[in-house]
Amino acid sequence: MDRCCICGKELEIMDSYQLFSTKRLYICDDCFDMKSKLISVNPMERLRAKEYMTILLEEGLVDERVQKEIWESIEKADRNLQENLYDWQQDQERETEKQKNLADYLEKRKGFTVTTGPSFDGYRVKRYIDVVSGEEIMGMGLFGDISANVTNVLGTSNATFGERLGRAKKEAQKRMIKEAIACGANAVLAMDFDMMVLTNHLVVSANGTAVEIEALE
Ligand SMILES: [Zn+2]
Repeated sequence: MDRCCICGKELEIMDSYQLFSTKRLYICDDCFDMKSKLISVNPMERLRAKEYMTILLEEGLVDERVQKEIWESIEKADRNLQENLYDWQQDQERETEKQKNLADYLEKRKGFTVTTGPSFDGYRVKRYIDVVSGEEIMGMGLFGDISANVTNVLGTSNATFGERLGRAKKEAQKRMIKEAIACGANAVLAMDFDMMVLTNHLVVSANGTAVEIEALE
């Protein structure tokens, strides 16, 4: 029966790997996994693999023919490990923070209301907060799009300009709502769209009054 040259576990030939073709040494699945994690880009995995290998080496389980290579791999895994771990933790924290903000935003977005009118039925304005706006710029090929629209008028079907304008309006409105949420509003009153042509760009902006509303008793 062959043994894993790293942890010493007895191996079924079927699930064993050959570690060194010349030395005819075998490695079990777990050790193979850990050995590949010694060069993982994820420093947490490298740390875990390093600890795993170190324990086996210290307990004298590692076959002496591969001890040197394993120690060298551990040294390599150790290089810049502290800085990598620090960066990785920072990244994780930033990611968690981002997720939290997104969840928070989506929650607020769900209850958010927008109207083009001056009020909402059944609600009163508790607080007027600020004028908010959101822009979207439709770039390039605008004249092409307009002529496409003209062709449309002439009878050929091409809805590109209208579709793009609709998307731009939606995007502008989304940004306006984002700004309103950021300043603590739960609704926007008197929303409307403005459009402005700048060379070959069309700027679409959504504007409104950010307010806090509450249901009437
Ligand atoms: Zn093993």
